[in-house]
Amino acid sequence: MNIHEYQGKEVLRKYGVTTPRGVPCFSVDEAVQAAARLGGSAWVVKAQIHAGGRGKGGGVKVARSIDEVRDYANRILGMTLVTHQTGPEGRVVKRLLIEEGADIKKELYVGMVVDRGSQRVALMASSEGGMDIEEVASHTPEKIHKVFIDPVTGLKDVEADDIARKIGIPEKSLPQARIFLQGLYRAFDECDASLAEINPLVLTGDDQVIALDAKFNFDSNALYRQPEIVAMRDLDEEDPAEIQASKFDLTYISLDGNIGCLVNGAGLAMATMDAIKLYGGSPANFLDVGGGATTEKVTEAFKLMLRNPKLQAILVNIFGGIMRCDVIATGVVEAARQVNLTVPLVVRMKGTNEELGKKILAESGLPIIAANNMAEAAEKAVNAARRN
Ligand code: ADP
Ligand code: MG
Repeated sequence: MNIHEYQGKEVLRKYGVTTPRGVPCFSVDEAVQAAARLGGSAWVVKAQIHAGGRGKGGGVKVARSIDEVRDYANRILGMTLVTHQTGPEGRVVKRLLIEEGADIKKELYVGMVVDRGSQRVALMASSEGGMDIEEVASHTPEKIHKVFIDPVTGLKDVEADDIARKIGIPEKSLPQARIFLQGLYRAFDECDASLAEINPLVLTGDDQVIALDAKFNFDSNALYRQPEIVAMRDLDEEDPAEIQASKFDLTYISLDGNIGCLVNGAGLAMATMDAIKLYGGSPANFLDVGGGATTEKVTEAFKLMLRNPKLQAILVNIFGGIMRCDVIATGVVEAARQVNLTVPLVVRMKGTNEELGKKILAESGLPIIAANNMAEAAEKAVNAARRN
């Protein structure tokens, strides 16, 4: 689960990390009032969407007067912001953060992820922060310093000081950098984050260390014990098909191809997408209906796939292990009738009650294209999508 920058900064403040003062806003009037309340002579108008690269896309602007705040808020609120993380369709901006302008001396970078190799949280930091950290990582990886944090001790003082020095934080700011980095680690750990990124963290003209941006991802398996994090969820930023899928306990991820996939088991679903690719096609989604799919779930899965205007064919690939093929076949027939199926449907099923399942499909009278193995199924689906 993702949250907005302003929410990430609220989390950070609770853990003692310094951020600029700021106010989230939903209208231009609110933005103007917020700037007036913050005072000062420079404000930053920041688009709040769940994607990075906003600065380069025109979603972060420094205003030198209240009139400029109004102009920028007007321009950014409601705009479709396209960044390297939103895809070409972009994201409509519905929230702003109005923040006091910081006096930036140097932009630095810190990030945290769960590192599977060491089974620890990895802290990464670089003196080369700002909007081009991806370039730094690919061209000069030696400029990224790492610490693998021991979960028993947390980030030790000496580790925090060492990495702070390596990224160029002056001696007199080390105590504040230590509070910053240790606070970030505690936030990450206690809130069950899977990623945290402060880019940039800045050194100000008077050598303060502050977080100018904040990005968090949280482990969805831990949300049951993170009510405060769940409360920050913004459904406007999530894929409506994925929200609908989660209500029916379906694992659904939208993709940009045209062949809908309905599969039981995540591994088989991945393999099905590979097979489609192998035959020159492109999956429209990842969909795992799970082990105990009912007719209702299968119907819902069909509805989800059919919402997609790009859909040209559906491939159902089922292994009947715990799940019986006749149950799935009944579900498919029922669903196809209910949703008034308009695209070719290829079905491959193997396993328990396979013959019975095939009989149900054949007798349904629906124009179902049967396949005996995965390769055949994928090839038939790709051809059907081309013809359709
Ligand atoms: P993104 O990473 O999505 O582009 P950031 O929040 O990192 O958005 O902002 C982009 C750039 O805008 C920063 O690298 C920084 O130079 C500038 N910036 C952001 N917030 C402030 C602020 N409060 N004061 C001054 N400059 C800022
Ligand atoms: Mg940033």
